[in-house]
Amino acid sequence: MKKRALALISAAVTLITAFSGCNFEIITEETTLPDVITEGHLDNETTYYSLETEAREETTAAAETTSEEITTQDLNTEAEEETTEEQGEIIGYTEKGFVITKKDGITYVDGVLVANKTYSLPEDYNPGSLLPECEKAFFEMKSAAAKEGLNLWNASGFRSYELQSRLYKRYSERDGKEAADRYSARPGHSEHQTGLAIDLNTITSAFANTKEGKWVAENCHKYGFILRYPKEKEAQTGYMYEAWHIRYVGIETAGKIYNSGLCLEEYYGITSCYEDTAENEEPVASVTEAQQMTSAAADIPQEQPTETAAAVQVG
Ligand SMILES: [Zn+2]
Repeated sequence: MKKRALALISAAVTLITAFSGCNFEIITEETTLPDVITEGHLDNETTYYSLETEAREETTAAAETTSEEITTQDLNTEAEEETTEEQGEIIGYTEKGFVITKKDGITYVDGVLVANKTYSLPEDYNPGSLLPECEKAFFEMKSAAAKEGLNLWNASGFRSYELQSRLYKRYSERDGKEAADRYSARPGHSEHQTGLAIDLNTITSAFANTKEGKWVAENCHKYGFILRYPKEKEAQTGYMYEAWHIRYVGIETAGKIYNSGLCLEEYYGITSCYEDTAENEEPVASVTEAQQMTSAAADIPQEQPTETAAAVQVG
């Protein structure tokens, strides 16, 4: 019996050692990641791009701590089971029974960080760049696409609260608040502030019909991304169709959401509407594709370079 007990202990030690080694490898791999963002779209003249690059270079120790904390959680496949401990206090349950937690002002649904019109991020939440797990997944997806002759690039990743504030102000002054709310997030409500969202390539509605756009729609879940604002889901997501905006949620969750055919809000049973519009305005019940395309086109004023205008229109 003693021998058997010893053998068991030995096996346990081997397992623990192997697991630690695995973790170590993951971390090492991340720290040596190439800078995929600067490989991309360097001729983009929009303000946020240079700000984004600067922010990346100046990543503070504090921001790194935040990233590491979230990275560890997301890399851990057991993260969902540890939600209540790792991601704060339980503040309620969604219509579909998923747990909602809040930690440091950030809302998690079933362990997934959520930022939309209902759930905002604190002004001081600033990872300074894409979170490592998102960047790593993007690089893998980009490489896979490249093997099929497709070129994906990150046109806009992380955006700070302050930058979003300026963008939203510009667009609400230009188009009015109601129109701006359909394509541009108010500060604190942008997914780009999470460091987990990426706008791909041209950031235009035309992207949906390119080879790259079609490939992304069918394959991004394999790398942990979802199309965050799918077609005909404006009433649920609060934003019109954006074929170019992907959100990292992890491979397992992305697969579930993709297979469900639902958008993130429907899948979890949560809302996406601002407090000040929830009561006195009917949500946009159903926007046809034609209307959406017209709206998207209308968001790009003729007098501005298409890229600049399109790049800043997103939520
Ligand atoms: Zn976007």
